[in-house]
Amino acid sequence: MAKRAFGVSRQFHVLRRITQVVLLLLWVLLPWLDIVRIEIQGTHGPGIIYFGHSYPMDFPYVLGLIIPFVVLIWGIALLTYFKGRVFCGWACPYGSCVELFDGLRTAVWRGSNRKVAAWMRRSSLHKWLLRLLAGLTLALAPVVLALSLAAYLVAPRQILQEVFATPWGRGGMIQTTLLTWVALTILISWLAGFAVRFHFCRMVCIYGMGQAMVVSAAPGNQILRPRFLPDATDSCGGCQACLRACFVDLDPRAKHLVLGFSAGCFNCGDCVDACRTVQGHKNETSLLSFRSSPRGSR
Ligand code: SF4
Ligand code: SF4
Repeated sequence: MAKRAFGVSRQFHVLRRITQVVLLLLWVLLPWLDIVRIEIQGTHGPGIIYFGHSYPMDFPYVLGLIIPFVVLIWGIALLTYFKGRVFCGWACPYGSCVELFDGLRTAVWRGSNRKVAAWMRRSSLHKWLLRLLAGLTLALAPVVLALSLAAYLVAPRQILQEVFATPWGRGGMIQTTLLTWVALTILISWLAGFAVRFHFCRMVCIYGMGQAMVVSAAPGNQILRPRFLPDATDSCGGCQACLRACFVDLDPRAKHLVLGFSAGCFNCGDCVDACRTVQGHKNETSLLSFRSSPRGSR
């Protein structure tokens, strides 16, 4: 078996966090930078903005919205067929927000982010500074999210004007709608981050159901998922570090790892990292790895 240097492995974790943050930033910035958005109250009626230029909401310009959407849906379906529910673990905006929210939860209440918990234990100053930062983020991040989603339909300049420059109550219907939307988003974000979390993915998400159906149509041995390396089963000491690392409470060592709807492996890789860290203490490599062909292994 290959030898590795000792250390805490966060290979998949770091890569995944970078992917999640980049994609979230992209979703937030697209309308603000006028790269793509709809304008429901354009000067000449509803329009579409592509890269700063305004076009009527008409054929063929609407194809610029429809074609990428169809390509995205098919792309995700194909990705799911071959790679399992990798979209959920790496790219879903809801899942990414809930995971990132865990750091805030740990600072202000209780959560499982070990890094934040370790910082909180350093001193009272660390604890209260982190709580202050987390409180500010809890107040501001949902506002940014709400306004960014609104910017897909209303011109960003108008949003800023209505929300920040016009006294509240004097802006008319559009201001009332925007302020109600911001208040709702704050409530929903806190509810999702503190209480609902991944129960939504398990019980409500229609896309999750669709993915589970696609996964069930693929030959089980071709789906990418964490699997034991050939002949590695006996080396497992049962430390359960991989179980503790799984944020959807699965056992990655299970022969029939659940890939369906109510509980599905999101192919995040945290269990592979955890085992690599454990095995690193023995100067060995992870017993788990992502593979689609399980021949000779679990
Ligand atoms: S089993 Fe492993 S890869 Fe799957 S969701 Fe859990 S930690 Fe992530
Ligand atoms: S982390 Fe590795 S050694 Fe520990 S229980 Fe999981 S597979 Fe076995």
